[in-house]
Amino acid sequence: MVVSRFAPSPTGYLHLGNARTAIFSYLFARHHGGKFILRVEDTDRERSTQEFEQMLLQDLQWLGLEWDEFYRQSDRFDLYKEYAQKLLESGHAYPCFCTVEELESERKRAEEKGVPYRYSGKCRALTPQQVEGYKKEGRPYTLRFRVPDGRVVVFEDLIKGHISISVEDFGDFVIVRSDGTPTYNFVVVVDDATMGVTHVIRGEDHIPNTPKQILIYEALGLQPPRFAHLPVILGEDRSKLSKRHGAVSVRNYREEGYLPDALFNYLCLLGWSPPEEGKELFSKEELIRLFSLERVNSSPAVFSKEKLRWLNGVYIREVLPLDRLVEELLPFLERAGYRPDKDYLRRVLQKTRDSFETLKEGVQRLRPFFAGELTYSEEALKTLQTQQATAVLSAFLHKLQQRELSGEGVKAIAKEIQKELGLKAKEVWHALRACLTGELEGVGVDILCEVLPKEEVLGRVERALSKSGHRRPADTPQALLCEDFHRREDSPGLS
Ligand code: GLU
Repeated sequence: MVVSRFAPSPTGYLHLGNARTAIFSYLFARHHGGKFILRVEDTDRERSTQEFEQMLLQDLQWLGLEWDEFYRQSDRFDLYKEYAQKLLESGHAYPCFCTVEELESERKRAEEKGVPYRYSGKCRALTPQQVEGYKKEGRPYTLRFRVPDGRVVVFEDLIKGHISISVEDFGDFVIVRSDGTPTYNFVVVVDDATMGVTHVIRGEDHIPNTPKQILIYEALGLQPPRFAHLPVILGEDRSKLSKRHGAVSVRNYREEGYLPDALFNYLCLLGWSPPEEGKELFSKEELIRLFSLERVNSSPAVFSKEKLRWLNGVYIREVLPLDRLVEELLPFLERAGYRPDKDYLRRVLQKTRDSFETLKEGVQRLRPFFAGELTYSEEALKTLQTQQATAVLSAFLHKLQQRELSGEGVKAIAKEIQKELGLKAKEVWHALRACLTGELEGVGVDILCEVLPKEEVLGRVERALSKSGHRRPADTPQALLCEDFHRREDSPGLS
């Protein structure tokens, strides 16, 4: 059975690159009907935190990556001890008593000579008596793996092809630190082997670690898994995607109102080529069916925020079932202080889901559908304070009181007002928009009037009129407008 895993370290938020690794590993397991394991690699006690672990799990769940088994390395220290002991007994590992200062000066000497640093192997040949003696003295020690001299480690990477690395590139490396904690290259082997992992799918930054791991497998008499190293993700300037490029964590995108389905879909397009050229929209089920490592490119992919945003818009407009969209948008609205009824929100979204690309943008855009007490932009207020707007709104109020409200109805009313007052269509809509949305741009007034309860529309018109400062009870729209035109004629600079 195929067994793959994702092995994040809880030392920060889930990076987009790691999320893609998790997704590919997950798709590979599901495609083959295998098992997907989540393993939290928290042996670095200083940098790992429980909060980050929680966030990682939440973000993976949010992306829809359900795992079959879960492990945490800090729960498995006894097992690592057992394996370290095995390596020690078989002579594949040895205690190293070199002090930090000694190692530092070895490193410095290499630097001065301009050669890559590798451990000198000073403690390789200590006799058992020397080891006992040092231990008795209470000297701290690490355990190092004895790297076979002159070996060239060769493996066939499922993405990168043939890889061969000489052990000259690294010396005997530490597998257990002096505080007793095991290191990454060692525990990853113990874990992958004991968890039955058949395919290690991870970022290409781990290629230099792979020969060390293969040597440990050999020393333990175990069969190494297959390796597949994914190319890095680049920013648009072709440098490795990092914080310099802006938001790079799954959490950032989640909070910005990206949908998990869209992010999942988009990340798959970074480095994997779908069999059908040109197709970009894929559900998780389709991806499971279609995914293969053969179609993962060996060269880096470039992350485009605009493309992701566009795809998110497609999911909002066309892909997500309306009820899901309601559920996704609700928490965003609640955070902004709105508590709409679900049925009402459904009706709103039916008409407006094509007008925004992220949920956060949706909250901004849909405010006029929810806000009890509108806030008006400066330009909207200015517009409302013209006599022309007052005339339009007075006429609107008058007509509204006499008929039912609908989108089509509003269009008809606007036309009538336009004719009666001799205005341009734009001038009428401008006033209505300022009054009903508090802005001069945004959702269509007709759409708004189709969905908003009539009392709310009436209330908004009344409130806008009360802000205009022009309205007197006896004024008719025509009279107001005449007054306005007179004033303009008196002061030609204004017209
Ligand atoms: N904990 C490692 C990382 O976060 C995982 C390496 C691996 O997949 O073997 O990079």
